[in-house]
Amino acid sequence: MLYNQSMQKKLFVISGCSGVGKGTVLKEFMARNSGFVLSVSCTTRQPREGEIDGINYFFINHDEFEKNIREDKFLEYAQFAGNYYGTKKKYIKQKFEEGFNIILEIETQGALQVKEKMPEAVLIFIAPPGVNIETGDISGGLRELEQRLRTRHTEDDETIQKRLQEVKTELDRSKKYDYIVVNDDVDRAVKEIENITKKLY
Ligand code: 5GP
Repeated sequence: MLYNQSMQKKLFVISGCSGVGKGTVLKEFMARNSGFVLSVSCTTRQPREGEIDGINYFFINHDEFEKNIREDKFLEYAQFAGNYYGTKKKYIKQKFEEGFNIILEIETQGALQVKEKMPEAVLIFIAPPGVNIETGDISGGLRELEQRLRTRHTEDDETIQKRLQEVKTELDRSKKYDYIVVNDDVDRAVKEIENITKKLY
């Protein structure tokens, strides 16, 4: 086994379409629960203002990232909006050894790679209101998002269609997740995630 299973620590993967409020839900979850660590990923994108190397991400260059890919250093990695993002195996191993449950906040391609390598990982997708979890019908969620984008008046029609296509792909991939949590209310969504994590002890 690649990772230390004897310690019974769990790995959770949390994804969600952009604009769904995933960051707020996660921040609130971390504030209310101890014993969890948010994984720090590697990326080739430039740091945004206020972001700190080693805290928000490990910022590395393209060559270094590809060297790590060749040397099989990543548990998962993906390209997103023109940059590489990935989770180092060594980082995960270390956090398990330190006794943490680990949360990866990553996009869906990487999440499905994690599930393949670690079937015991728990995948949670945060969906926008309007998605029908029972039937798997995502059209309500897409309509809601389209409406939001249109009322913002910041994107043209072509950009809106592109964004919606990306969201559709993400929502389609979410069908392979273990849980879908609808973020209709932050407090409720956090409690639902807490219930999922507690169920697994
Ligand atoms: P941002 O550039 O806004 O910080 O992140 C862009 C996207 O990359 C987000 O959807 C985020 O969840 C995802 N992401 C961050 N780190 C990783 C990672 O290590 N692996 C993968 N596959 N996606 C990541």
